[in-house]
Formats: sequence, C-alpha cells, structure tokens
Amino acid sequence: MEIKKLQEKLMRKKVTVWEKRDRNVIDEYSKGYKKFINYSKTERRAVEYTVKELEKHGFKPLDFYLEKGKIEDGDKVYYVNNSKAIFAIKIKGSLINGINIVGAHLDAPRLDLKPEPIIEDTNIAMAKTHYYGGVKKYQWLNIPLELHGVVIKDDGTKVDVSIGDAEDDPVFVISDLLPHLDRRKGEVSEVFKGEDLNLLLGSISISYDEEVKDGVKLNILNILHEKYGIIEEDLISAELEVVPSLPARDVGLDRSLIAAYGHDDRICSYTALTALIESEPINRSASILLTDKEEIGSDGNTGAKHHFWITVVKKLLKLQGSSNIELDIDDTLLNSTLLSADVTAGYDPNFKDVHDPANAARLGYGIAIAKYTGARGKAGTNDANAEVFGKIRKIFNEEGVVWQTGELGKVDQGGGGTIAKFFSEKGLSVIDAGVALFGMHSPYEIASKGDLYETYYAYKVFLNKN
Ligand code: MN
Ligand code: MN
Repeated sequence: MEIKKLQEKLMRKKVTVWEKRDRNVIDEYSKGYKKFINYSKTERRAVEYTVKELEKHGFKPLDFYLEKGKIEDGDKVYYVNNSKAIFAIKIKGSLINGINIVGAHLDAPRLDLKPEPIIEDTNIAMAKTHYYGGVKKYQWLNIPLELHGVVIKDDGTKVDVSIGDAEDDPVFVISDLLPHLDRRKGEVSEVFKGEDLNLLLGSISISYDEEVKDGVKLNILNILHEKYGIIEEDLISAELEVVPSLPARDVGLDRSLIAAYGHDDRICSYTALTALIESEPINRSASILLTDKEEIGSDGNTGAKHHFWITVVKKLLKLQGSSNIELDIDDTLLNSTLLSADVTAGYDPNFKDVHDPANAARLGYGIAIAKYTGARGKAGTNDANAEVFGKIRKIFNEEGVVWQTGELGKVDQGGGGTIAKFFSEKGLSVIDAGVALFGMHSPYEIASKGDLYETYYAYKVFLNKN
C-alpha cells in the first residue's frame, strides 16, 4: 500500500482527454472545425474565414483605431497582411507588460501550378505543377484534386479561381502507372518525380482540322476564358494551388478521429482563433498570429520571418500613448510569450521504430508541448528555456489542461522545424505546443477530436492567464 502511495506521489500518470471531458462538448466543437477546414483550402481562404469570424465577434481592422486615435482595454483589433497572414489582438493593459501570442501557420503542403502550366502531349492537355512543402509525391497520384487561387489579369484586376468543391464541378487527377507495367525499383523519392506531377485538364480538341496544332490546350484555354475571362499569359501572374478534394470526415467506428486535408497547421490556427474569440485576458493582451509560408521555411513577406505584426504592435503602442516607440517595442517583445502552435508527429503503432515511445505524443492524450524540434542534435530550433516550460506547465495544471510532451521522431531519425525560432530570436519567450497527427503532410491527415478540443482549451487558458 505504501508503495502504491509512493507511486501516485512520484510518478507521472498520462491521462486521455476522453477520461476528462464530456464527449458531446468535443463533438460539438469538432463540427465548427470541420466547417472551417472544409472552406479553408488555401491560406487566402483561411484568412477570409478568420476575418469573418473575428468581425462577427467585434474585432475591427487596425485602420479603424488609427482613425479613432486611441485604443482602450477591451478593444479588439486585427490586421491582414497581403490576404495571406493575419494578426489579431484583444487589448488588456499596457502592451509594454507583454502580449500572450498563439502563433500558427495557415499554409499547408500542396502542388502549385507552374507559371506557364498548360501543355499538350499526345492529345492530352495537362497542367504542370511544382510541389510546395514536404510531400511524398506518390500520395498525390490518382486522388481527386481541386484548384483554388487567384489570377491577376493584365489590367490589374484580380480573379478568384475555384474549381472542384462545388457539387457539379469536375475534379482533377494526376495519373499513376498501372501495377501491371510498373517495374520501377528503388527509392520512392527517386521513382516518383516532381516533373511527372501533371494534372489532367482535358482530352477534346477545339478542332479536328489537321492544320490546328495544340487544339486540346486551346480548348482548355477557351473554357478558362469563358469562365474567368483570362488568357494564357494571365496564368503567369497567378497563385493557383492544387489541393486534395477530400472533405473532412469522422474516422473509425467510435468516430474519435478526424481525417482532413491541411490539419497542419489549420488545426492549430482554428483552435487559436476560437480560443482568442472566447478568451477573457486577465493580466495582459491576448493575440493570435497566423502566418503563411511555414512549409517552405517562413520566408517571404507573409511568412513568420517578416515583422509586419511588430509594426502593428508599434502602432498600437502609439495609440496607447507611448512616447518612445523604439524602446517600448523592445520591452514589449522581451516581455511577451508566444506559444508556437504547430502539429507534431503522433506515435503511430504502424511506425513505432521512428519514435522514442517515452517521448512521442499520443493521439488523445491532449495538447503536445515540444521543448524543441530541429534535427541532428537540436540544430535549427528554439530550445525552450526550462523557465518557460515551467510557467506553461503551471498554468496548464492549475486549469486542468490535459497535456503531454512531444518530440518529432527519435534522435537522429530526421526532424523538422516550426515558426518558434523566428520569435525567440526577437526576444520573446517561446515554446511549441499543438496537436499530434498521424500521416502528417499527406493529402488526408488524421487528428484526434479530443486533442482538437483540448488544444483549443489550452490556448484559451494560456491567453487568459499567462
Ligand atoms: Mn506545421
Ligand atoms: Mn508542416
């Protein structure tokens, strides 16, 4: 008996979300997420959805407050960067005290159309693609695909293109070689080539007159022109993203899991968004920063390396009456904490050997906190200070958050990064915390509904209490 008491006192017991939460509450929350993920097939669409939700809950664009000339406690502000990244904040107290930020990313691995995409070969028209982010190329073959994005025409007007998610829309497919004839051997990364990821567009010629060359391609251009008023050169000034046409579905007989395209990292973006909306910050301002380009290194003016949100905070400092913005912004950043909200690898029973079972995150065991990511001996990561982990652990435990630790694979197995390091280099206290997935970066990633709900709850606790 004494030993049992000692065990309870000293050893950490991992619990699941399912033991602690009401199943109905989890299911209800999942419905909202499925709506979000089904609409947010690109980072632009995710921003659009986010803005609508924020406005519904009283958030106003930064310009509104700049015109007004001041901000007060309780004010809710948002700023959109180039339609692809967004910063939103609930003001509570002086910003110099620091801000609680949940930072996630809205982009997801996909195939982008090349600048000159349309080709015709043996009476088949195809669109050439260049993959974006880390994909296993074979996973994108012979599955239904959609096309979403924008085209900037010669006169500067922007056309929204969206094909594949309306009920009677066609979809696109990249065809794979039949097994009967596939004698290719070797590494999958060698066998499946990026230049072969060509989307089937059509097979009918605009004319069967022998004088007409590339008639199938011309027919496709004609269809695009009739639908969108665009010509071939317009496709050059465009961002057209090829994404799986796979609506989010419950997985398993117990419906405990959700499969969807783009959990990485829209699952952390949605949980952050809803946490901010529901938050009631006690000590200091609460915010979310949803960035783009994470899957290709966070470069570019919509990525996490860009400082647009700091510019917004500077303007807010001015609206709070700061007389020395340069000094005050440094204090604000140094006093701020950012939860780097990104997904991690779940301990998959089919692929146990890539993980350390003691440290890998498990589906259903709550939000996974990762002290570090990186590769080859923690290279290229924000390795969170013990003090930061201690603080987060304390507030999570106080509020009954179901949490676990996570590590992206066992030592020297591989690795990866998140946006965390781009904030710690600016002086913020940062730690990674998000949802564990199976099949990360695949066209149909799998998450636990329990973890989805618990991550929302954890972000809300952090935004309120930190
Ligand atoms: Mn991610
Ligand atoms: Mn990723």
